[in-house]
Amino acid sequence: MFDYCIVGAGFAGSVLAERLARGSGKRVLVVEKRSHIGGNAYDHYDDAGILVHRYGPHIFHTNSRDVFQYLSRFTEWRPYEHHVLASVDGQRVPMPINLDTLNRLYSRNMTSQEAEAYLAQVAEPHDHPRTSEDVVVARVGRELYEKFFRNYTRKQWGLDPSQLDASVTARVPVRTNRDARYFTDTYQAMPKHGYTRMFENMLDHDNIHVMLQTDYREIEGLIPYKSMIYSGPVDEYFDSCYGKLPYRSLEFKHETHDQEWFQEAPVVNFPNEHLYTRSTEFKYLTGQKHPKTSIVYEYPTDDGDPYYPIPRPENAELYKKYKALADVESRTRFVGRLATYKYYNMDQVVAQALATYQKIAGVIDGAHALATPLAE
Ligand code: FAD
Ligand code: UDP
Repeated sequence: MFDYCIVGAGFAGSVLAERLARGSGKRVLVVEKRSHIGGNAYDHYDDAGILVHRYGPHIFHTNSRDVFQYLSRFTEWRPYEHHVLASVDGQRVPMPINLDTLNRLYSRNMTSQEAEAYLAQVAEPHDHPRTSEDVVVARVGRELYEKFFRNYTRKQWGLDPSQLDASVTARVPVRTNRDARYFTDTYQAMPKHGYTRMFENMLDHDNIHVMLQTDYREIEGLIPYKSMIYSGPVDEYFDSCYGKLPYRSLEFKHETHDQEWFQEAPVVNFPNEHLYTRSTEFKYLTGQKHPKTSIVYEYPTDDGDPYYPIPRPENAELYKKYKALADVESRTRFVGRLATYKYYNMDQVVAQALATYQKIAGVIDGAHALATPLAE
């Protein structure tokens, strides 16, 4: 008899499997319908021997010391600060928009103060930015919004920015200095030997049994367990009884080129050209040396695996109904990006899973476990 059946071997499922087995001595069955562990962060060596991310570029960044220290038990790191260029008006300019972006786009030589004054002049202030359009127009005005955000967002989400919560485009900052990093978090690094190796180390424990290529519904009633942790789409768990929750998907087009480098930055965004949103060249991310290079293009679509919850008011309303069902499902806990319908980065999912473990450990071991959840 297993203590836990964990559905999904991504960050949510793997962190909880690891904690319950190693931290609390529980017997854990991890059931994953894909043929590999790691969820969307899965990476592998392609036919040319280049380490690639099957489900698009995954760059690790966090401000949480706890999350970084926790993952450091399973991997060494390669320091990596991410950079992105956007293809706009025939040029490739830094994204997020910064001082160099503005100067190159407008053939100017502004100082930071002048750039601030310029943005203040073109911005259309908004008391309560509600949508992804409001928030960008309030920061940089309509022209830059249209060059960098409107069409990229339409392509990525199949919706106009005015139909999406402010939180979506608010993820991308605007700067008037020359900092060209995509993220400014305290910890920015890639797992030295890849994500999959890190997941293997997490799940390598006598009390953890992993079943791949298995939908959890196939084993229900056949393999006994006491409780479940579910990290799949929340609506699927409840047979979409209130209707399907919308998720956005992507098709990935992977290519290998017979040249050492393909593009001048790890990621190039294409707001206004092509059907794909961006191209990523993996060797920048991984630091791998190889005479060839592998890249991926991302084509957004409604069909296919669910990758992105879509943050907008009507979806939040529908999710609330499923959450009310989840809250009274006493044998199952819902964790992760799909199960809690949150546009979470990897570190946020790890933090959510660790917090869930603390709650469980409090129940298992009493107050002591709550006070020292990560100590070993
Ligand atoms: P998942 O990784 O989706 O894992 C859920 C698992 O459950 C899946 O493997 C699925 O197959 C399995 N499953 C579902 N239903 C069933 C079932 N019925 N039976 C059995 N198994 C089931 N985050 C960052 O921090 N940095 C980035 O740069 C970044 N880039 C991203 C790029 C893309 C293109 C995408 C899509 C996401 C990106 N993310 C990034 C987000 C990151 O992928 C997620 O935060 C993280 O992987 C979520 O982990 P999870 O365990 O919640 O879900
Ligand atoms: N975005 C955009 N243009 C860009 C980059 C981002 O319009 O060049 C918008 C788009 O809506 C995107 C959101 O900002 O979905 C968040 O971008 P981020 O890079 O954080 O998305 P991720 O790929 O991490 O999901």
